[in-house]
Amino acid sequence: MTGRLAIVGLGPGAAEMQTPQAASALDAATDLVGYGPYLDRVAARADQVRHGSDNREELARARHALTLAASGRRVAVVSSGDAGVFAMASAVFEAMDSGAPEWRRVDAEVVPGVSAMFAAASRVGAPLGADFCAISLSDNLKPWEVVTRRLRLAAEAGFVIALYNPLSQARPWQLGAAFDLLRPVLPGSTPVIFATAVSRPEERIDIATLADADPARADMRTLVLIGTASWRQIERPAARPWVYAPRSMR
Ligand code: SAH
Repeated sequence: MTGRLAIVGLGPGAAEMQTPQAASALDAATDLVGYGPYLDRVAARADQVRHGSDNREELARARHALTLAASGRRVAVVSSGDAGVFAMASAVFEAMDSGAPEWRRVDAEVVPGVSAMFAAASRVGAPLGADFCAISLSDNLKPWEVVTRRLRLAAEAGFVIALYNPLSQARPWQLGAAFDLLRPVLPGSTPVIFATAVSRPEERIDIATLADADPARADMRTLVLIGTASWRQIERPAARPWVYAPRSMR
């Protein structure tokens, strides 16, 4: 029997930001695999087996999911946001690439989700309406020198930068170092948006400038958007300004 493996993006938090396709993939699963807090976002069902694990065990989790699927189970691996953006889809394909030949026969599917950058952008207007890039500030899987080079070149090239994994308890200094590195490259007036826990009850959106951006405003649930000189703001009475990237540079 050939099992199935769906790698499912759950969206940023709120149920209404989860796609119907994700809901069907979860519904069809006999087994759910993922980081515990993400599994907690899926309604419990007595006939489904849950395999929760620690956040750092992505490859082991991916192998476990492939083993279950190859044995005939219908498995859903869950990620927050989009399954392919700094998330489990890469770990599953890495495991498949170097793993048992029968894993390639598994009927696998990647189910996309609303990534944190899109949820965050929607709250402030249209900040990703022109060219942008996404960079994870975590140096768990790549050297910090690679991060700093990408940040500098992206800023020099005029990309809006969406920063994932800005900091955590184990990595408290990266976001401050990133701001320090960008300050000589970009004007101090460049807007910086801190979007924390978007679509969850604790949601908080702050707009600062690069000159006064305080890394302490961020935690591991924060997506940081670094703007460009092209961004415009529309002031509104008694509300946060709209921030948008015009479509044209002319
Ligand atoms: N696959 C996920 C990203 C996982 S990396 C996605 O596509 O969104 C984890 C990082 O995502 C966090 O450190 C944070 O930067 C961001 N993130 C995840 N959920 C978020 C939310 N609800 N609000 C703001 N940022 C979020």
